[in-house]
Amino acid sequence: MLLAEQRRLLCDYGRRAAALGLVVGTAGNLSVRSGDLVAVTPSGVSLERLEPESCPVVDVDGRLVEGDLQPSSETPMHLAVYTATGASAVVHTHSTFGTVVATTMAELPPVHYTALLLGGTVRVAEYATYGTPELAAAVRAALKDRRAALLANHGGVTIGHDLDSAFEATRLLEWLCEVYVRAKGVGEPRVLTEEQLAAVVQRALHPPVFPRRED
Ligand SMILES: [Zn+2]
Repeated sequence: MLLAEQRRLLCDYGRRAAALGLVVGTAGNLSVRSGDLVAVTPSGVSLERLEPESCPVVDVDGRLVEGDLQPSSETPMHLAVYTATGASAVVHTHSTFGTVVATTMAELPPVHYTALLLGGTVRVAEYATYGTPELAAAVRAALKDRRAALLANHGGVTIGHDLDSAFEATRLLEWLCEVYVRAKGVGEPRVLTEEQLAAVVQRALHPPVFPRRED
């Protein structure tokens, strides 16, 4: 079986996405790239019921290489992202707070410093019908220099150097969207300034070193 390990990982993370409520029904799709091949979740199957052999393998040009089921209808978006970025994994969900922000806003402003892990402000890609080349192009543009994008009136997408990092980026994106939405219910959220964000980068680059006590 081609990409056996990658297809097993798709099942593991697919189940986690379903268990965490990041997807409902057959929504959401994940993929992992290895060289010229991409293992992707199938169309029409709930992520919680995935089996490795039911995950198709396609090449980067979108031709089915192995598998009985059709690849996810969002496979063109996954392939466009791989072509445009150095990512090795893509996670797309219809998570609740991500979709709320994607339905109401043009971008998610950085109100918490961990937004820097996604590249700062998260753009909302222009609306296009699911599965179309137009949506793929809009998402590719929104992901420029970012690890996450929201899809207008649809959901979110994140990328990573492996499936675990792409999945953690999806969890972080959903958490940031939830914080923003809940903060908005209390008052007008303060957005971090460029200066404050630059200070966070400097802090991360130069972490404090605690001296060891000599007894
Ligand atoms: Zn979708």
